[in-house]
Order: sequence, then C-alpha cells, then structure tokens
Amino acid sequence: MSKTRPVYLDYAATTPIDARVAERMAECLTAEGTFGNPASTHAYGRAARARVEAARTQVAALIGARTSDVIFTSGATEANNLAILGLARGARAARGAQAVHVITARTEHKAVLDPCRQLEREGFAVTFLTPVEEGRVMPEQLRAALRPETVLVSLMHANNETGAIQDVAAFGALCRAHGAALHVDAAQSAGKLPIDVQAMGIDLLSFTAHKLYGPKGVGALYVQQGRRVALQPLMYGGGHERGLRSGTLAVHQIVGFGAACELALQLMGAEATRQAALRARLWAGVGALPGALLNSPTVHALPGVLNVSFAGIEGESLLFGLTELALASGSACNSDSEEPSYVLRAIGRDRETAQSALRFSLGRGTRSEDIDIAIAAVQREVLRLRLLATDATAAGGAALAGAASGEAGTREQGTWVRFMLKAANGRIASASYQAYGCPQTLAVCEWLAGQLPGCPWADPGVGGALDWVEAMQLPADRLTRLLIIEDALRAALAAAQRQVAPG
Ligand SMILES: *Cc1c(COP(=O)(O)O)cnc(C)c1O
Repeated sequence: MSKTRPVYLDYAATTPIDARVAERMAECLTAEGTFGNPASTHAYGRAARARVEAARTQVAALIGARTSDVIFTSGATEANNLAILGLARGARAARGAQAVHVITARTEHKAVLDPCRQLEREGFAVTFLTPVEEGRVMPEQLRAALRPETVLVSLMHANNETGAIQDVAAFGALCRAHGAALHVDAAQSAGKLPIDVQAMGIDLLSFTAHKLYGPKGVGALYVQQGRRVALQPLMYGGGHERGLRSGTLAVHQIVGFGAACELALQLMGAEATRQAALRARLWAGVGALPGALLNSPTVHALPGVLNVSFAGIEGESLLFGLTELALASGSACNSDSEEPSYVLRAIGRDRETAQSALRFSLGRGTRSEDIDIAIAAVQREVLRLRLLATDATAAGGAALAGAASGEAGTREQGTWVRFMLKAANGRIASASYQAYGCPQTLAVCEWLAGQLPGCPWADPGVGGALDWVEAMQLPADRLTRLLIIEDALRAALAAAQRQVAPG
C-alpha cells in the first residue's frame, strides 16, 4: 500500500485528462501541429481557428447552446467573475450602483461569493440566501428575495461540497418572469447532469474543463447573444471573444475542452448510473458506522458525491489516518482560526460536525474495489479515534481502576485530553491517555504515554508544550493545543500525588 498511490476519491477537486483528450491536445503544440494563432489570416491561423470553432461547437452542444453563445475563459473562476462583475458593472452604467441588486446564496463556491462581496464594496446591494432544505435554495426563497432593481441572480447547479442539485429550471422561470438575468455556476454539473440553457431559462452559465476530464486552465461562459444586459469585460486588448475576453486563444486547451465535452456527452448517462451505484455501496458501508451523518441530499445529489460527518470524531485526525485515500474534508486543516467548511455551516451543521466531514467524490476511474478500500479505511479510523476519545468514566473505567487521572480542554475547543497514571514506589508504573484532537495532539499524547512509565512522578522530566513543539518539529500554531496536553498531564500528576500521599 505504501508503494502505490492512494485511491483517488477527489474528482470534485479535479480530474485527470482523458487519454483521448490529451491526444487531441498534443496535435496543437509542435511545429507539425496546429500551433498557429487563430487570429492570423494565413493558413496556420485558419487551421487553428477551424479547430477552435469545432471545439466551440462541441462545448456548446454539452449545454444545449448555439456555438456563437460560448466565450472561452481560463476556467470557471474567470467565467463567474466575468458574469457577475461584468453584468452588475454593465447595469451600473445605465442605472447607478444603488439601483442594482444581486441575489446569490451562502453555499456558493468562493469564485461566486468573492466577486459578490467585491460588488458590495463597490456599492451594489447583494442578498445572500441561506438554503433551507438539504442545502437547497427553494424557489419560494428566491421569489421572496427578488426586488424591482434585481438585475442578476447567481445560483449554482450542483454544490461542490455536498453535491446538492438545485432546481435551476424553477429559478430560470422566476428570473424570466421578473426580468432578472440568471447566472449558473455549473462547474460541478457540466458533463455529469443534462443541461439545456434554453429550456432551463439560463442567461449565463460557467463551467470548466478540468472537472470533466479536460485540461486545467480553460473554461467557458455561456452568454446568450443579443442578451438583455450588456456585460462589461474584465480585460481589454484585442477584442477577442466578442470583445468580452481579450487575449490569444489557447488552442490546445480549447481543443482539449471540446474533446472532453464531446466524450462527457457520450458517457454521461452510463457514468451517472454506475457512480450512483458505487455511491450507494459507499454509503451502505460508512453510513452504518455509529454517528455517521449524511450531509448530501438523499435524492437531489450528484451521483458521484457523498459528504458524511462522523459525530465525536476530529476531522483532521480522521483525514490524517486515512493514508490509503486521497479525499477532501470539511476541516479547517492547518489553522487554529479558520472556520470549518462554510458550506456545511450554512446548511445548519455545527462547527464540530462540519469539522468531522469527509467528501468522497467518485469519477470515471473509480472501481468497486476502491469503494471497499475506502469503507475499510474509514471504519478502521472512525473506530480507532472514537475509542481513543471515549470517556473512560462511562466506558473503560473498570480497566483503569486505581489510576489517577487528570484532564483538560473540551471537544468544543477542538482538543480534549485525559491522562491516567498509576504510581508505585515514587515512580509512574503505567500511563495511558484518551484524546480528541488534531494529529499532532494525538502524536504527543502517544509519545508521552510511552515516555512516562518509570519516571519519578514528582518530576517526570518530560518537558512541556514548548519542548514538544521543538523536539517533534511541530507547527508553532499547535502550541495552544499542546498547552492543553500539558495541563492534563499536570492535573494527572497532581492527582497521583494526592493518591500516593493522602492528606
Ligand atoms: C472548481 C469549481 C470552480 C472553479 O473552477 P476553476 O476552473 O478551477 O476556476 C468554480 N465553481 C465550482 C462550483 C467549482 O467546483
């Protein structure tokens, strides 16, 4: 296991390029290939332009658009920025910023939330909806939030953390009736769910190649030609892409994107069925664990995404222990201050629950053997961490009879530690611990439990938090957590002292 790479279950973060796609891309790189600038009028340029336009047709076909309605960008982040900033700033020219209102949701990707926050700084009014049911925005919520001055509604098709699928067609109908433009971030759904921009009433749609087995660094914005509100470009220079996105077109990227879209359209139906079955198998395994809580919707979820929290388990330690898997978590790794997943917090999960979440995202390369490896690994780690964090007074109390114990911290704080010591003849005869916390906390506790036996209880000489940070080369931001270990150890030593010398 250590020699081979971990099982990849993070397809929602990115996907490998399909070999057939890579082949098409390679044809556009070297001197023999289609390397020309599509803006050039000679044969090299015309050949490149022909390939770009063929790709544009493939990309448009995936979302039911006309070829001329697709603008190539560097990815979904840029497409979202162009749609949101471009539309609002375009409307400002006609009405003034105060008269421009935008609606979005708290569970959107940062690539939507951050441009919306930028709009607020520029004086625009923005409403952030909080999803109600299973992380989905209800059409009635949108209806209630629409104002006469609402020009743009930006709501995603499928959520990147939970896989929740929104009723985009209902949003489209409301926006059409109201005269507001609907922008949809479809980075997670394009190539996985059927999309028809015309039928769904979508005015602007963002997606990206690297989430659908194409290359990183290329995406598209669907912008209906003859749109009602003019987009203001983010960049100027050359007037490429209908003046909305200047810059020489990345032919190899665009050709790869086109090929990936064509493949996705062919494979979508069968892959959705296959992945849904794998997802069900995964949930049957991990959902049976005590304390497992589904964060993904039961029905309206992407076939390949399963988000699960494990009550009472520290998320960072859980992820750390799953060495045979590559997947994402809801925990705010490597930071004492950062909130765990804002998406899970927005759908009503408390900090601890959000912190203990794992996002499994399956893809074309996922096999049932991978699911079985994942289930076994999660079962092992959840049971191990739960045992480690189990309150001894409730459970294993008898086995620790006669031990002096001391504890510090709380689970709400993110760290809880208890040491149990037995003393004999002035020395520590045995030491054990229980802990809930980050991997470093658990490692220091484990190390201490090994060091303490044989040490004089009055002064065991194992040092304190500062020494442990140095000796074990731990990140300095872990110091506050290690101080909790130090407190727990002191408390246990004090209890041992009282036990050995009563009165
Ligand atoms: C990945 C993702 C993005 C960002 O796409 P890039 O092409 O990497 O910029 C935006 N929105 C959602 C929902 C995503 O999953």
